[in-house]
Formats: sequence, C-alpha cells, structure tokens
Amino acid sequence: MTDLKTELRHYALELGFARLGVSHPDLEEAGERLAQWWQRGHGADMDYMIKHGSKRHRPAELIPGTLSVISVSLPYWPEQADSMAALGDPRRAYIARYALGRDYHKLMRKRLARLAARLVELAGPVQTRVFVDSAPVLEKPLAVQAGLGWMGKNTLILDRQLGSAFFLGEIYTDLHLPADTAVPSSCGSCRACIDVCPTHALRAPYRLDARLCISYWTIESRADIPEALRPAIGNRIFGCDDCQLICPWNRYARTTEEKDLQSRHGLHAARLSDLSCYSEEDYRRISEGSALGRIGYEGFLRNVAVGLGNAPAEPATQAALYRLCQHDSAQVRRHAQWSLEWLAARSAAHA
Ligand code: SF4
Repeated sequence: MTDLKTELRHYALELGFARLGVSHPDLEEAGERLAQWWQRGHGADMDYMIKHGSKRHRPAELIPGTLSVISVSLPYWPEQADSMAALGDPRRAYIARYALGRDYHKLMRKRLARLAARLVELAGPVQTRVFVDSAPVLEKPLAVQAGLGWMGKNTLILDRQLGSAFFLGEIYTDLHLPADTAVPSSCGSCRACIDVCPTHALRAPYRLDARLCISYWTIESRADIPEALRPAIGNRIFGCDDCQLICPWNRYARTTEEKDLQSRHGLHAARLSDLSCYSEEDYRRISEGSALGRIGYEGFLRNVAVGLGNAPAEPATQAALYRLCQHDSAQVRRHAQWSLEWLAARSAAHA
C-alpha cells in the first residue's frame, strides 16, 4: 500500500498537483467547530454549509464505505498577479487572484478523475468519488489531516513551500491507504492577517465572520452591501486577498505555470471606469468559464460602483458613476448614488 501511494503521488505530480496526502478522516471536532460558527451567525446566509447535516463531517455518511480520503493541492497564483500595484491604485479594480484565470473546477475535476482511474489501475476495482468544491466536504480539515499543511489563523491552509494560494480537491475511496501525518502549525505568535483585514472579519484566530468579509459580500451575497463596509472595501470588486498577501508564508510562494490559471482579458490591471462601461455582453465575455461569473452582471456592476466610490474624486470617476446611476438595475443605481455622495463627502472633507 505504501508503494501504491508513492506511485499515486508521482502520478499526481505529473498531473500538475503540488501535493498529495491521505487521511483516515476523523472530523468530529471540525464538525463541532462548524456548528458553533453557524450558531454564532458567522456563516451569514450560507446555509449550504450546514444543510447536509453530519454528511459534511462524516465522509462515510456521504459516500458509504469511505475509508480513506486523498487530498491534493494545485497552486493558482498567476504570474502576472501584480497584486500590490493593483491594490494600491484606487483607479484599478482588484479581483482575487484565484479568479483571474479560467474556473479551476473543470480543470481539477478532470485531473482528479485521471488520478482516480490510476488508483483503480493500481489497486483493482475500488470505489472512488472525486470532489472539487462540489459536495458537502470539509476540504480544509481533510487537507490538514492528510498533511498538506496547517490551518492558518486566517482559516486558509498553509504549506511551508507553497504558501496558501492553492486549490484543494479530494478523492473518497473505500481502499484503506496508509494515512499521512498532520503538519504542526507554524503561525507562531504572528497575527498579521488578523490585523490587516480591512473589515475586521477575522474576529479572532481561526474565526472568520462572513458578515464582515469582503469576499462574502462581493462574491456570495446578492443583497445590497452594507453602507458601513463600503469604504473599507476599497477597490476590491471580486473577493479579497489581503490576509494572504500579508502572510509571511506567501513571501516565497511559487506562481503557477498552468496556462488556464493565468490572468485573462487583462483583468489583473483592469480600470474601474472601463469596467463600469461593460454591457452584459462584455461581462459575459470576460466571465465565461471563470469564477467571475458567480456574481452575475448586476452584482459585478454593484461592486464596480462601490469601487468607484472609493476612487479619486475626478471627472472620469464621476462620469462613470453618473452613467451607473442611469442603469436598468435598481441595485446598481442605489450603489452608484451612494458612491457619488461618498465621493462628495470625501472631497468636502479634504477641501
Ligand atoms: S499572517 Fe501570520 S497568523 Fe496569519 S496565517 Fe499567515 S502566519 Fe498565520
């Protein structure tokens, strides 16, 4: 079995995965933490996180017979990320770096399916089920138990060589493979991610309150963004990487060579005023086959309107906001109107 796992690990590397680890999942504690997180209200309206009950933390209830879970990681940081320049320029739009390229789900599922097929070739007719963020799976605690990294205080998995910018995928199997050992935490006394969060969404180490999280509001939520949070959102129009960018373990993280995960359509350097002119057709063109499609056209312009409210008060910004104030969507109009008022208030304060 150890040889089989070594063979599988080599094949995973050939497929482009950075790591492969195996766990015999024991997720009772993780399930308990998830329940507490939800009871505190920190999950906002993401009830998909709890609606499958214990299937999420008991893999054998989701897929009967599961004995081992194979976890893999795939780095995604694109070569042209240019993150600090984008974040530091309020005329530019910041898009979470995982979303600059093609949607990873299809790419990763295909490769995991090949890895699962290899497992069957090596072990005979065993049961395999592949998951990429597609079912109630506690992928982060599974990755920790498989030795892929430790859970950082920012709630992301950290690998000493790769940092935290990687996707996770799993294969559930009824084969009893040798398990790997968990990696000890190397966060130490650091709390940089907690201190840097623009909206204080990391209320304490390992405790993320989605109701304050920029990623939640700019990706998951279709509601109006709370006005109190809008100034701190800055130019982040789709997700936020601040707690990764500040993390010392990401300082030497490698970038990906995957063609599909490189920035498309110049999105790493897009300007807010240009994005504000996008028609639904334009939006479809840039978001097709990308995670960006998750927010929809209306949500995209809603976020661009907030970004413009935090941009310099100059004619191009105002013109973009006046245009959005005429948009068909009432939500876009509301956000653009707020941004115009916020821009005026900021100008008055500096006069
Ligand atoms: S910034 Fe510091 S505390 Fe946060 S995840 Fe990285 S090492 Fe851990």
